[in-house]
Amino acid sequence: ELYNKVLELKGNIRVFCRCRPLNSEEIAAGAAMAIDFDSAKDGELTVISNGAPKKTFKFDAVFRPQAGQDDVFEDTAPFATSVLDGYNVCIFAYGQTGTGKTFTMEGTDQARGVNFKTLEELFRIINERQKLYRYDISVSVLEVYNEQIRDLLVLGSQRGATSKRLDVRQAGEGMHHVPGLVEAPVTNMSEVWEVLQTGSSSRAVGSTNANEHSSRSHCIHCVMVRGENLLNGECTKSKLWLVDLAGSERVAKTEVQGERLKETQNINRSLSALGDVISALATKSPHIPFRNSKLTHLLQDSLGGDSKTLMFVQISPNENDISETLCSLNFASRVR
Ligand code: ADP
Ligand code: MG
Repeated sequence: ELYNKVLELKGNIRVFCRCRPLNSEEIAAGAAMAIDFDSAKDGELTVISNGAPKKTFKFDAVFRPQAGQDDVFEDTAPFATSVLDGYNVCIFAYGQTGTGKTFTMEGTDQARGVNFKTLEELFRIINERQKLYRYDISVSVLEVYNEQIRDLLVLGSQRGATSKRLDVRQAGEGMHHVPGLVEAPVTNMSEVWEVLQTGSSSRAVGSTNANEHSSRSHCIHCVMVRGENLLNGECTKSKLWLVDLAGSERVAKTEVQGERLKETQNINRSLSALGDVISALATKSPHIPFRNSKLTHLLQDSLGGDSKTLMFVQISPNENDISETLCSLNFASRVR
């Protein structure tokens, strides 16, 4: 109740910042920390350059390097309730490659991320509400690479000419969909786990360097929820999008050519289109430029209106990464 009111006041867009820890190589190399959490207030952080404070940023939540997956999920869980209440929700992870986007969304076997935990929370609430509501849940897993959609639940799906071309179609007002996209029905967490595994294993198919490919494509899970109120027969339909975005690092155009240049331009285009859409929504602009990228077109029905958006801006604490960190923090401040 209270949570939804707070969200409404903020125009339904929340931004959480998460900073990864320094890794062992960085520690061994004596890397300096560029982020100060202690002198700033709650929900703030300060970027430090050459020992001097450079700029302070404020977010709806700030997660320090020591914050665990459970800490992050505690603040994310209310979005699961919103989905079951009939709201569309988008959760994004934005940031430079290596800052923990996949760690936050997918997590590891030992430290499951937002994707798994949100679905777990959905099923927990569904069970709690079973005398009042009936829910059907299905999951799609897809990838947007070079402005093309690939279905990751189609077994043996390959990139390139052999794959089925999927695209966004509009069936009516607020009814964008992707004809032909697999929607896997799930009734419990072991089925969810299977679907998530299938999705992540086909992600690597057809690429010579799986890590590089995943940093250059958007990985998207869409959870479709159909609810029925058993007392009055009222039905709801809502979607939860979980998006592990392509790396936001700027690549100098002079350094890349051919395919790689096209890739870079497509990533820049879709990330700036996303920023444009969210900031247009935040400032209640009359024109929202959804059509400027495949990603925003795909998510059109779930961005704006009474939908809820959560953006994780992922950063590195390493002083060597400071310019990318400032870019990401500035991007996130713009959408907030
Ligand atoms: P990205 O998806 O943004 O490229 P990753 O999620 O692959 O980044 O993270 C890079 C590395 O850092 C991985 O080995 C990951 O496990 C580790 N890592 C990222 N964030 C954290 C964190 N908050 N705590 C511990 N390890 C992390
Ligand atoms: Mg990743």
